[in-house]
Amino acid sequence: MSAVDQATARRFGWLNGRRKRSMEEVILMLLCALCVPSILPFGIYRLMQQQWMSAAVDMALVLAMLAVIVHVWRTGGHRVASFCVTLFYSAGMLATVYLRGVSLIYWVYPTMIACYFVLRPGLAVAINSVSLAALVVILLSQLAVLNLLTIVVTIGLVNLFAYIFAYRTGAQNKALHTEVELDFLTGVGNRRSLDRKLADHADERRPHLPSCLLLLDLDHFKQVNDLHGHAAGDQALIRLCEVMRLHTRSSDRIFRYGGEEFAVIANGAELDAASRLAENLRAAVAAAKLIDGHPLTISIGVAFMDKRRAPADWLMQADKMLYAAKQGGRNAVRVAAGDAAGVEQA
Ligand code: GH3
Ligand code: MG
Ligand code: MG
Repeated sequence: MSAVDQATARRFGWLNGRRKRSMEEVILMLLCALCVPSILPFGIYRLMQQQWMSAAVDMALVLAMLAVIVHVWRTGGHRVASFCVTLFYSAGMLATVYLRGVSLIYWVYPTMIACYFVLRPGLAVAINSVSLAALVVILLSQLAVLNLLTIVVTIGLVNLFAYIFAYRTGAQNKALHTEVELDFLTGVGNRRSLDRKLADHADERRPHLPSCLLLLDLDHFKQVNDLHGHAAGDQALIRLCEVMRLHTRSSDRIFRYGGEEFAVIANGAELDAASRLAENLRAAVAAAKLIDGHPLTISIGVAFMDKRRAPADWLMQADKMLYAAKQGGRNAVRVAAGDAAGVEQA
């Protein structure tokens, strides 16, 4: 990477294209890993005691959890795996109580709470309700009604509290996520959101249609602030985003990654379609009156998001094209063709 390329990569905060593991993946793998120290010793003990069925249940659980860790580590897919882990845990817990009796009822509580860590609260409640019903059937003949009722009520309360906590945390996370990824002035995605989307596109495990990256920059925007004031400049930025929303598809994503610098991910667009989109945007902005009595234009650089390259390369290519559009007189589009050679479009 040349010094210029490195500077561009640093500007965009992208020096390597590796995707960070999601919190869900990490929690699921930790939960499965916990299974080894907490269940394996019991499995070994039962093997030594020749309690073959109980030992088989413990060992099957440990092996299943190890398989899930390997799967999540390699593929990053955690939704189906979370569901399977919950089923393994719940079935193992029921089998243990069935085989070893009510003295192992204590395992039910952590097992049920674990569900709320890896599944949506509604799904966790549904699975735990079925488990509770099965538990009642297993224990019916072993316990006095009052004792059974105590178990049902305490399990019910633990689930209620866990549900409320998980639901509240989920809602707060969602609100925080939205807040953290939106640009407060224009309402489009911010830099953080752009980085996340680019990382997502770079992830080979996730299917994406061929897509392009557009970088847009308002021409001579400083003059707007100087002549009309900062507030008028802000209004022009808001208007620009409205125009961009009007002229992009709902599947395209718009971001503000700098003061008067924007990016569009044209999902499912090859270079041809993306350069047409860029040209439409350029013409639409030139025709729109972003600010009264002051013609405003944009320059655009376009690059193909080639999965064989890292997001830093896509950004560098598009940025070079944007620079070329500025050098070529502004109010222009430049498209990176093949090995980043610029092709004049407007
Ligand atoms: P060029 O055509 O080379 O891009 O020229 P330019 O004037 O647009 O570029 P320059 O980088 O010199 O200036 C960018 C200006 O954008 C400077 C700054 O005042 C303005 N700007 C950046 N963020 C905001 C913002 O949030 N609100 C307003 N009103 N102005 C902003
Ligand atoms: Mg500018
Ligand atoms: Mg700029």
